[in-house]
Amino acid sequence: MSFDLHHLLRPNIRNLKPYRSARDDFKKGILLDANENPYTPTLEHKLKLNRYPDPHFEALRNGLSELKPVQPNQIFLGNGSDEAIDILIRMFCSPGTDRILTTPPTYGMYRVSADIQGIETVECPLNPDFSLPAEKVLEHSKGVKIIFLCSPNNPTANRLDESAIRKVIEGFSGIVVVDEAYIDFSSQASLLSLLDTYSNLVLLQTLSKAWGLAGIRLGMAYASTDIIGYMMRVKPPYNVNVLTQDAALKALGNPELTEQLIKLIIKERERIATSLLEFAFVMKVEPSDANFLLVRVKDAQTIYRQLAEKGVIVRYRGDQKHCENALRITIGLPEENDALLEAMRSLL
Ligand code: PMP
Repeated sequence: MSFDLHHLLRPNIRNLKPYRSARDDFKKGILLDANENPYTPTLEHKLKLNRYPDPHFEALRNGLSELKPVQPNQIFLGNGSDEAIDILIRMFCSPGTDRILTTPPTYGMYRVSADIQGIETVECPLNPDFSLPAEKVLEHSKGVKIIFLCSPNNPTANRLDESAIRKVIEGFSGIVVVDEAYIDFSSQASLLSLLDTYSNLVLLQTLSKAWGLAGIRLGMAYASTDIIGYMMRVKPPYNVNVLTQDAALKALGNPELTEQLIKLIIKERERIATSLLEFAFVMKVEPSDANFLLVRVKDAQTIYRQLAEKGVIVRYRGDQKHCENALRITIGLPEENDALLEAMRSLL
């Protein structure tokens, strides 16, 4: 019997362009590449790991509903918000028939999750100033079941105008997902209060950024009780493990710590944004509502490589729409940010 793995695979999986993580390239150094929080809460565990976790994550949903203006049954929890993205696409889109819409430059997993399912992605780029072209998005929405918006957006760091987002939600009869992974660093409030008005709105948030818990993998989706009910039916039964649920509960019990860390990171963001402008090769620092900066430099690829040689890892984003010569730099600890500036100074 001859076995041909490539022949067996679904063609879309054989041809899949996988998500490239910041950690595919570098694992060591001053890591300002993955939009992580440089701070981490210390959490101790004394857990019974012989039992499965609560499949309904009741304690966590209750805890979150005390912090956020939503009911527990409007909350879905996933193995990172990446799992929520995947489940939403599987729930609403039939392979070969339905489409999703994204607004490049934006987070890459919307497209990868769609590709894995054999779902076409319609791309309607943001304007060159990274604002949301609401009318154009609606014009491109034929056959689209889900529109993914990201605010504040990765990698551009800007927030999208609320009135433009509302225009899309109001003009579209499918689902609008607004990914708020970076919302805690923004001067704009979350759109959670709009959930009562719009039954086609889904919001994504995560403990990976402001909460400093990227390692535990916990993401949230907030929506109507009906949508959340279906997400709960589609998810694997025990998708959020005991260690994660415990760490998340402890962290949610101390929101003041997260508030302090957010303030520290925003202060550093402003300091670094100003300092970067000292360098002749820095053309522009884009406004940021996130824990990272999109920085336009002369010859970004060379600078990216030279920084890496000095042990400072940032992300090259010059290959993305409207991001010519852009580096994405995560805000690290003050001393890490100083090391970045020092490395840049040595390039002069
Ligand atoms: N959305 C955006 C915009 C992101 O940048 C990221 C991670 N970099 C995610 C979602 C995924 O987050 P999580 O760790 O919750 O899977």
